[in-house]
Amino acid sequence: MIYLDYNASAPIALEVLNTVIEVMSSQMGNADSRTHEYGANSMAIVQSARKSVAGMFAVDPQQVIFTSGATESNNMVIQGLKDYGKQTNKKHIIISSVEHKSVLESAKALSKYGFEVETVYPDDSGRVKAEDLLERVRPDTLLVGLMHVNNETGIIQPVDQIGKFLKKRGVLFLVDATQSAGKLIDEIQKLDYDFLSFSAHKFQGPQGIGGLIINSDVRLTPLMYGGHQERGYRPGTVPVALCAGLGKACSLALENHLKNQNQLKELKTTVLKVIEDSKVKYSINGDPDYCVDSMINISFDDVSSEALMVLLKGICAVSNGSACTSNEYSLSYVLKSMGLPENQIEEALRISWGPDTDENELKKAVADICQIVLGFQ
Ligand code: PMP
Repeated sequence: MIYLDYNASAPIALEVLNTVIEVMSSQMGNADSRTHEYGANSMAIVQSARKSVAGMFAVDPQQVIFTSGATESNNMVIQGLKDYGKQTNKKHIIISSVEHKSVLESAKALSKYGFEVETVYPDDSGRVKAEDLLERVRPDTLLVGLMHVNNETGIIQPVDQIGKFLKKRGVLFLVDATQSAGKLIDEIQKLDYDFLSFSAHKFQGPQGIGGLIINSDVRLTPLMYGGHQERGYRPGTVPVALCAGLGKACSLALENHLKNQNQLKELKTTVLKVIEDSKVKYSINGDPDYCVDSMINISFDDVSSEALMVLLKGICAVSNGSACTSNEYSLSYVLKSMGLPENQIEEALRISWGPDTDENELKKAVADICQIVLGFQ
């Protein structure tokens, strides 16, 4: 059985796990306790982790806010701009239809307070056209929210072009980099944005921690009250061991990303070759030229992905949508909004891997999938 659902959550790297265990078992102090050295030690660990995170994103450590993950970070920005939007009378928000629910639903929640949420749709390439989005920018546009890489299709959105334009126009830009953080490191470092969200567990860090990079003077209203931690943006005791784990995941990602990228590319070439050689009938969802190397979203002709996944139990763990929605199966809203035919959406399977995935095991799993598919075709 091979795990091929890295987009939902990647296995924690051994070095990260060891860091978490070591810190959790030896550092009992609250990082904000100033009356003893246990507190000071914990604070030193948190600040060192903050530096590692900042290093990976090429920002100042001050700009890093630890959160529980991208869902919280996205909410922090969107909900946190409510007061600022009201004060400045900027109540227009632009997002794409393929955003994660933590952006879609958070933006929808603001519409109850008089905010207008405009949605931009991709075409069947899965990519939103930059011009399409930018022509909607108005003087009262408060925020544009666009993900860097889509979690279901792996499609890279034109956040570079959009960020440059929005910076000139002085419009706030939230980039959800949950699927690119720790992977497209050079690309992220060059982006223009005001807020960038990510989760550690997507790049072999621990679950339950992530962050928000703040690159703006606009003060977000915090979602919670009760402490001054994380500059007041995110009150509550900082999880020292998780911060250390995230820091480790970031330094490993920074150190290894070129090697990792080559490895991911090689794995993708292998996957596509096995599929091609098997003679199954299929289509790849989303424009392959803009897809990351760590996944494919594929529809096998005439094979429902739900049925296929039942047969794949014990062979490999894959998915047919985002984990957040796959327990109550409905057709993927991402693929739907790309305008794909219903049968193709029903057939869509997401296979995602990481740099530590064993090539031979991957090859075998994909060959097994194709074998089962051939039985249907
Ligand atoms: N944004 C994207 C693009 C994601 O893929 C995910 C996780 N599926 C999230 C946000 C939310 O991340 P988390 O569940 O770790 O908060």
